[in-house]
Amino acid sequence: MIIHKALKKHFGYDSFRNGQQELILDILASRDVLGIMPTGAGKSVCFQLPAVLQEGLTLVVSPLISLMKDQVGALTQSGIPAAYINSTLTSRQIEIILQNAKSGKYKLIYVAPERLMAPDFLVFARSTKIAMLTVDEAHCISQWGHDFRPSYGQISQFIGLLKARPVLSAFTATATQQVKEDIIPLLSLQNPRVLVTGFDRQNLYFEVQAPKNKMQALLVFLKAHQNQSGVIYCATRKTVEEVCEALCRLGFPATRYHAGLPDEERRRNQDDFLFDKLPLMVATNAFGMGIDKSNVAFVIHYNMPKDMESYYQEAGRAGRDGSQAACLLLYSGQDVRTNQWLIENARDTSYADENMEQLLKERDYQRLREMTFYATTNDCLRAYILRYFGENPAGYCGYCGNCDTKFETADITEDAQKIMSCVLRMGERFGATLVIDVLRGSKNKRIYELGLDSLSTYGISQKSAHTLHAIIDFLLQQGYLDKSNEYSVLSLNPKAREVLKGTVTLQMKLAKEKITPAVEVEAASGRGKNVVPKGREELFQRLKALRLQIASSQGLPAFVVFTDSSLTHMCIRLPKNSAEFLMISGVGESKLKRYGERFLQEINAFCRENPAVE
Ligand code: ADP
Ligand code: ZN
Repeated sequence: MIIHKALKKHFGYDSFRNGQQELILDILASRDVLGIMPTGAGKSVCFQLPAVLQEGLTLVVSPLISLMKDQVGALTQSGIPAAYINSTLTSRQIEIILQNAKSGKYKLIYVAPERLMAPDFLVFARSTKIAMLTVDEAHCISQWGHDFRPSYGQISQFIGLLKARPVLSAFTATATQQVKEDIIPLLSLQNPRVLVTGFDRQNLYFEVQAPKNKMQALLVFLKAHQNQSGVIYCATRKTVEEVCEALCRLGFPATRYHAGLPDEERRRNQDDFLFDKLPLMVATNAFGMGIDKSNVAFVIHYNMPKDMESYYQEAGRAGRDGSQAACLLLYSGQDVRTNQWLIENARDTSYADENMEQLLKERDYQRLREMTFYATTNDCLRAYILRYFGENPAGYCGYCGNCDTKFETADITEDAQKIMSCVLRMGERFGATLVIDVLRGSKNKRIYELGLDSLSTYGISQKSAHTLHAIIDFLLQQGYLDKSNEYSVLSLNPKAREVLKGTVTLQMKLAKEKITPAVEVEAASGRGKNVVPKGREELFQRLKALRLQIASSQGLPAFVVFTDSSLTHMCIRLPKNSAEFLMISGVGESKLKRYGERFLQEINAFCRENPAVE
């Protein structure tokens, strides 16, 4: 089928995701569509692929400048000619783009809604064949939506001024019933196919904590997720400043973003985050609409947002490439009060009259209540979210903070024996962190420098660092291990002999391992299909380094070259030639040509150096 071939050729994907094919086929048959799909579901392909296949130009109305730049960058990388027009360009640059567009140079042009009615642009639009008009973030047209943008109201008028009516496609990630009902008439979609795909994002792990000390809870989380990229959302600029400063002081690679910063700094910080120079972003909700960073491994809400729409959209920025990712909400009663205050003192909202004001505020309070229920429920968090968006989920998902039985009594005798013999083999000279690194077979430089990778206890534990920490703490409490005050060096208490000899068994209440590390189990469960196989972590790092080198030399964010999930796929498949490389998810013809050789070289080199692999 043509569209399957085109999907592989231009985007490098082997199959369509839920809903994509139906929407694409309808568009190609000139039927208007409205696609309601959660963040990360793959809306872009739904209009980009028809744009490539159709004759004529596709105009994409998109609310945010950052989104345009990234999408155009990614399209260009895939060999699809595209451009954007917005206020960051000079009028001369715009003129050139419009000239090029007239001569058919681009398949897609991204514009902000305000641009449509600008005289120059209208002249252009009326004299060019516009095959399709795409409205991204279409919920912005509804005043019942959470990001109402009045200029979206002009879209329909603009279409009326064109010589021929293009096919219309509209997309959004959030649409409660009211918003859905608004979009169709306001955009004057004609007999559209309305496709709502499931809102479930199976690879996201949802969790709510109500910690006494949020900062401490944040640090615990970040320590367990080192070297990963994540966003930490805060309710106010002041909190952003405080949290970011605290993290930086503690040596975390964090940057910040909020509307109070100068444009230039905001841009710089955003780039630092996108390019993984500073993989932690502390931000207000001003950050992220249109940020398509695919390797965000977690989104933490340091404060509870104002409604579930905001929460799900922001949290949904995690795990866009389909890898496992975590969404943690740190809740406190104060968050409710802050939001109430914000509703009463909404700054950027103008109300038509007092009745309208009353009505809108009531809706905001209702949304806040439902958000608060989420933060305090003991039921399945995923089920709560899905019900909120009108779905009918099964009772328990088994993969969220509330579904996980928090504690189970486990026999830890064997783990304790491993820890103790490791402490012994290491000469009772090191602290818990290094002991855990050895047990887990970490590739940490220090391990090699100290020659610890040759110990028989190197890499013998499959437990998470978090669990091993918990067990060590338990052994300390129970007096099996001792810890020096200075340097926290671990040593064995004489009592430990009984455990090592196997004459006593140990039991403790252990937080259940939440993320099962074994590749097979994850593949079988269909969650986070993307796990680097054991023994190939080094290859993954090498491919990442190569990607960074290529990306930096071209001034691109790394994920525009390849997403983490493509690199992971390479580690799983170990392609040997161009044909096999083309089988990798995310590799299309353009990327094969651009990068195939260099990545194949690296993979082949790794396989030569590690003949045991495969
Ligand atoms: P949305 O706009 O719906 O939030 P995107 O269009 O940004 O989502 O897509 C999210 C991610 O999924 C991107 O990294 C994209 O390249 C990837 N993707 C989209 N369609 C497919 C597909 N058919 N197969 C594999 N990955 C896909
Ligand atoms: Zn659940």
